[in-house]
Amino acid sequence: MPKTLPIAQLGSPVIRTVAGPAGDLGTKEMQEFIDDLMVTCNEAKGMGISAPQVYRSERIMIMSSTPNERYPHAPEMEPTVLIDPEILWQSEQSEKDWEGCLSLPGIRAMVPRAKEVRVTYRTRDGEHKKASFEGFLARLFLHEYDHLNGIVFIDRVDSTLDVVMEQEFKRIIASNDEKRWDQK
Ligand code: ZN
Repeated sequence: MPKTLPIAQLGSPVIRTVAGPAGDLGTKEMQEFIDDLMVTCNEAKGMGISAPQVYRSERIMIMSSTPNERYPHAPEMEPTVLIDPEILWQSEQSEKDWEGCLSLPGIRAMVPRAKEVRVTYRTRDGEHKKASFEGFLARLFLHEYDHLNGIVFIDRVDSTLDVVMEQEFKRIIASNDEKRWDQK
């Protein structure tokens, strides 16, 4: 049975370490680790997670997107593991939107990210893939990819004024919704 792994918090050196290449995908241990990472992401209600966030400094990440309370417009994406991902291209055009992170609970920030990315990665079976992501999924990819390089989302903000606590974030989101309703 896959198990839930403890999640490293900001301050833990592993969060600030550049991860090495993924180990041998052919071992039972690695395949079990990938299952554990998927379960951990799901249990924590994350849209993604990276191996360094569970104290394993290897270039492995999960993307798993589904609409929820915080991100009602998030697209559906089956949980997908990306091994040794690389960015082939990213658009110069960027956009700002809210992000959060399992390793920095309680903090939200508006983060500028490229609107589009083209990437390569390997599947858990070692198959080479290319993919293009845009909008929310580009943001999700770039957030997790940053973790592989020891970077967290608050490093990317334009201003510390774009960083808020969860409780206030909820209020901001609610008042934005109200404004939207007022305009109708
Ligand atoms: Zn994160």
